[in-house]
This record gives sequence, structure tokens and C-alpha cells, in this order.
Amino acid sequence: MPPLGPGSPQGGTDLEKHRDRLMVENERLRQELQEWRAQPAGPCPGCEHSQESTRLRDQLSQLQLEVAENKGALSELNLEVQQKTDRLAEVELRLKDCLAEKAQEEERLSRRLRDSHETIASLRAQSPPVKYVIKTVEVESPKTKQALSESQARNQHLQEQVAMQRQVLKEMEQQLQSSHQLTVQLRAQIAMYESELERAHGQMLEEMQSLEEDKNRAIEEAFARAQVEMKAVHENLAGVRTNLLTLQPALRTLTNDYNGLKRQVRGFPLLLQEALRSVKAEIGQAIEEVNTNNQELLRKYRRELQLRKKCHNELVRLKGNIRVIARVRPVTKEDGEGPEATNAVTFDPDDDSIIHLLHKGKPVSFELDKVFSPWASQQDVFQEVQALITSCIDGFNVCIFAYGQTGAGKTYTMEGTPENPGINQRALQLLFSEVQDKASDWEYTITVSAAEIYNEVLRDLLGREPQEKLEIRLCPDGSGQLYVPGLTEFQVQSVDDINKVFEFGHTNRTTEFTNLNEHSSRSHALLIVTVRGVDCSTGLRTTGKLNLVDLAGSERVGKSGAEGSRLREAQHINKSLSALGDVIAALRSRQGHVPFRNSKLTYLLQDSLSGDSKTLMVVQVSPVEKNTSETLYSLKFAERVRSVELGPGSRRTELGSWSSQEHLEWESACQTPQPAARAHSAPSSGTSSRPGSIRRKLQPSA
Ligand code: ADP
Ligand code: MG
Repeated sequence: MPPLGPGSPQGGTDLEKHRDRLMVENERLRQELQEWRAQPAGPCPGCEHSQESTRLRDQLSQLQLEVAENKGALSELNLEVQQKTDRLAEVELRLKDCLAEKAQEEERLSRRLRDSHETIASLRAQSPPVKYVIKTVEVESPKTKQALSESQARNQHLQEQVAMQRQVLKEMEQQLQSSHQLTVQLRAQIAMYESELERAHGQMLEEMQSLEEDKNRAIEEAFARAQVEMKAVHENLAGVRTNLLTLQPALRTLTNDYNGLKRQVRGFPLLLQEALRSVKAEIGQAIEEVNTNNQELLRKYRRELQLRKKCHNELVRLKGNIRVIARVRPVTKEDGEGPEATNAVTFDPDDDSIIHLLHKGKPVSFELDKVFSPWASQQDVFQEVQALITSCIDGFNVCIFAYGQTGAGKTYTMEGTPENPGINQRALQLLFSEVQDKASDWEYTITVSAAEIYNEVLRDLLGREPQEKLEIRLCPDGSGQLYVPGLTEFQVQSVDDINKVFEFGHTNRTTEFTNLNEHSSRSHALLIVTVRGVDCSTGLRTTGKLNLVDLAGSERVGKSGAEGSRLREAQHINKSLSALGDVIAALRSRQGHVPFRNSKLTYLLQDSLSGDSKTLMVVQVSPVEKNTSETLYSLKFAERVRSVELGPGSRRTELGSWSSQEHLEWESACQTPQPAARAHSAPSSGTSSRPGSIRRKLQPSA
């Protein structure tokens, strides 16, 4: 067994010695490292070698870490050896006990064997006298016979005892054999432990050796590198010294230069002041020039603005302040099938202002300012009214009416569908984009109001209480202008805003009336857009108003059919549409008096119909056979409105021929209002007349 483990003094001393040696070595290395660290840090901070030395230091600390780890492993191995030694000692102790026990047992058994042999020998020695006794007894007396039998019994007993002793002996021999086997086993185990111990010791020695080698190698490498670095640092230092020597003259020159510059800088503020003064004077002069130029430009711009307005007015005057166009809707599913739903309207391929209608087999033709066929898109129609809409940015008032029988497409043209919006939404979008384009010079606000005229009662569609009747009043300031107290106005800035306003108006109308379709065909719906602008440079203010009106259905109620409320509705509608026709006719023929007060609608729109305002009437036409009578009526209305613009004399006659209101008042100051100064306005109503009367007058004379 090798002398190792803490139990063996020799092994313990070796390990301790080794550990002490390692500790001494470590300490020495640490000192070396500190010295070595202290050396390069001073003279050469930040030189390229400090990086290398940092790396080496890192490596060294890495190695130190490894050494610490190895030490840990070593102590673990030590612990293991200690444990194994302890176990071995224990086994030895147990073996010793077993051997002692075995010796005792052997001793005991041999003693008993010896006793047994002795007993057997003594018994053998006793047997002849017994035989003799038997013989004597047989021969001599019954007494002796009894003694003999007793002796025989004793003999028997002794023989049994001998057999028993033999049995015991045999068992003991067996025990002895098994304890021999146990001893052999224990010896083999001991030998195994010993060899294991020896192997562990060898391993440990090997590991320690390799660790020692690693450590030595690392230390040598680190030392070699440190030496090389030191050498490089020294060389560097020498280089720096030489550099310093050569830099000194350069530094002297620089100092001289610097002193020269300092002297110059002292004189610089004076120089700068001088330069600033002259530059300021130059800039002032330039600003003066620019200012004069600006004034000139502003003057020219204003002149141009005036000119533009004049030109626009002239253009509109040439085109006519009042224009009438027709739009024919396509044949729809709702028109049904059969001869009633056949198309009765045709167009002139060479002239887009002509429309032909086949009425009761008779062709009738009309000439308007423009005719849109069923294939015209919303955009096409909008294109036609676009210029009118933008003119309200310049402060003009504009009215666009959709006229026609129910189902002819008035609402489609004005409102359109969400996917294909009509004039209302497109107009606001256009206004937004125009206003944005001019945003650098002008500040605009766009507001919208929505109202409805039903049975000559004006209601606010955007108000909190839409059922409330609104009145049209004269401004108390004596300006003669009209306004509607309580009419809600919403400021809008985006398409989203418009949609919300429209939505709100719709909701108001829907909740108010159960049959909205019917109701809306019997009322006039007005969208009033007001554009107010301020010219940022001149402070000039403009206000333009765009009135978009979806009129009530122009169909005439059958003489027999209508009664009560329906008849009243029809009368109101008829009256207001006639009044509109009259007003437009009066305006177009430049009548001195225009009967605005004959209906709420014309009264409300007075400001926007008179003066240099612009009006467009879109006459909606259904193309199918069954509607030709109403179509004819609508086109007649359109043509009459349009053809009113004649000489002053004939004008009056013409007007008289189709207006039902012979007794209308004739106002003289109808063309006075200037749109620019208007903020709120609203014209008003007149009274009703029999539906048949006016309409009948409008029937073609043929
Ligand atoms: P009104 O307002 O004159 O009573 P609508 O605008 O409600 O008539 O139109 C009646 C029907 O005809 C609606 O279904 C509408 O969508 C359709 N319509 C009208 N004009 C056109 C058109 N130009 N293109 C397609 N459909 C149209
Ligand atoms: Mg409608």
C-alpha cells in the first residue's frame, strides 16, 4: 500500500509541500505583476504598448484564474484520497476484528475437540470392566444384571454424547472453512482498494505535474512578452525624446505666429465694426429697394385682381349670369318595361345644346345652354359648374338649382351617392383645394348651413330643433340686407367635416319625417356654403355664398287626385317654383322689379340671385315615354327661363305671359347687394297659388 492520504504522514506532507510551493510561486508572480504594472503605466500612457500590456495583464489574470481553479481541483482530489484512506482504515479494522474472532473460535473449537478426544479415550478405557460386569452379571446374579443394564444405558448415553460431539465438531469445521473464505475475500478487497488508491495517487501526481507545466509556460510567455513590450516602450520613448527636440524650434515659430495673430485680433473689432457698418448700409438700401418693388408689385397685384374680377364678370355677363342646362337621366329598372318605359329623348350629335323629345308621336326640340345625355358622369356635370363655384371664392354669390319632376335625378345630381358624389360634395372639395392654393395670400373660412322649405315654412336642418320655424328678417342696421336669425352655421375644413354635416342634416330630416322620400320630393333642400376671405397683405375682405338647391318635384298634381294636405303641398310647391321662374325671368330680362317676395325660396335667396350673382338651373329630365308630359313641361320651363333675356320691352311681355303673379310687387332696389360685405343672409317666401294655373300657362302652346 502506497503511503498516501492524510492518514499517512508521508502523503500529507507531500501535498502540503506542493500546495505551499504553489502558494509561494503565486505570491511571487503577483508581486512581479504589480511591479510590472507599475512600470509602463507612468512613462507611456496611451501608447500602443499599453494595449498589448493590458492584453497580457488580462492573460495573466486568466492564468491566475486557471491556477486557482487547478488548486480547487487539487483540494478536491485531496479530499477524495482522504475519504478513501478513511474507508481503507475502517476495512482494515474490520478485518483485524474478524481475524481475532476467528482465532478465538479456532481456539475454542480445538479446545472442545481436545476435550472430546479425552472423553472418548476415558470412555474407551472404562469399557473392559463393564464387559466383565455384564458377563459376571449374566452368570452371577440378577442384581448384577440390573447393574449391567444400567451400565448399558450409560454406555448408550455416552455413545449418543460422542455422536453429538462429532456433529458439533463437523459444524465447527464448516464454520472454520467459511471464515477462511471470508478472510480470502476481504484480502482481495483490500488489494483492490490498495490498487485503486495507488491509481488515484498517480493521477493526482500527473495532474499536478501538468498544471505546474502550464503555469510555468504561461509565466514564461507573459514574461517574454512583457520584455518585448518594455523594449518597444523604451524605443518609443527614445523616439518621442528625439521628436521633442525637433519640435522645440517649431513650437518657437508657432509662438511667434500666435503672438502676431493676437496683435491682429486686437485690431479686429474695429475692422469688423467698419465692415458691419458698410454691410448694414448696403442691406438697408437693398431692403428699401425690395420694399419699393413690393409696393409696386402689390399695386400691380391689386390691379390684376380687379382686372380678373372684371374679366370674370365680363365672361359671366357674356355667358349670361343665368344659365340653364338639362341633364337626362338613364332609363332605370324603376321605369319598368313595355312601351311606357321606352326612350323618348334624343340628342343632336353636332350640338350639345339641343334636345329632342317625342311627345305623343310629335317631335319637339329645345335649345338650352347645354344638354347632358344619360352617359354624362357626375364629373362631367361638375366640370360645367366648376367655374361658377370657384367664383364664390372671389366674393360672388352663386345659386345652383336642380329642377324637375320627382325621380328625374335632382338628388342624384346634387347629392349623388357615397361612391359617386354629386355637386354638393364636389363643390366643397373644390373650394377646399382652391382655398388651400391661395393660403399663402388669403385666409379663408368656409361655413355651411342646411335648410329646408316645406309648405312655405323654413326650417334649420342642422339645428337642435329642426321643427322650429325660422323667419327671414331685414338686418336691423338699415343696410336692407336679409338674415335668418337662428340658422345654424358649421365651419368645415375637410371632406370628413362635410360628411358629418350632411349626415347630421339627414338624421334630422329622417327623424322628423316618416316617409323621407315623399317628404323630400315635396320640399326644397338648401345647402348654403359661405366662403369668407381676408387678403393677408391688403386686409381686403370678401364673402361669397354658394346656394345648392334640390328643388321639390315639379310634377303637376292631377286635377281629380289631390285633396287636403297633398293639395296644399302641391299648391305651395307650384307657387314657389313659379315664383322662382318669375324671379329668374325678371333678372334675366333685367327687369326693374324682381318679385323675390313671392316665395320663401326666392326671398331667402334674394342676395344670391340679384346683382352680379350667378345662377345655374339644372333641369333634370326623365327619358321614358310615360314621363314625356312632365319632361315637356320641364323643358318648356327651362327654355322660357333661358329665353327671357330679350330686349327690355319684350321682356316684360314675355314675363307676363308665363308668370301667374300679375299682381307681384316690383321692387326697385333688387340688384343692389354686393356679396363681399355679407355675412348672413336669407330671403323669404310668398304665398301659394293653384298648381294648375301657372303650370298650364307653361304648357307648349302648340
Ligand atoms: P329626384 O331627386 O329628382 O326625385 P333621384 O335623384 O332620386 O330623383 O333619382 C331617381 C333615381 O334615378 C335614383 O335611383 C337615382 O339613383 C337614379 N338616377 C338619377 N339620375 C341618374 C344618373 N344620371 N345616373 C344614374 N342613375 C340616376
Ligand atoms: Mg330627390
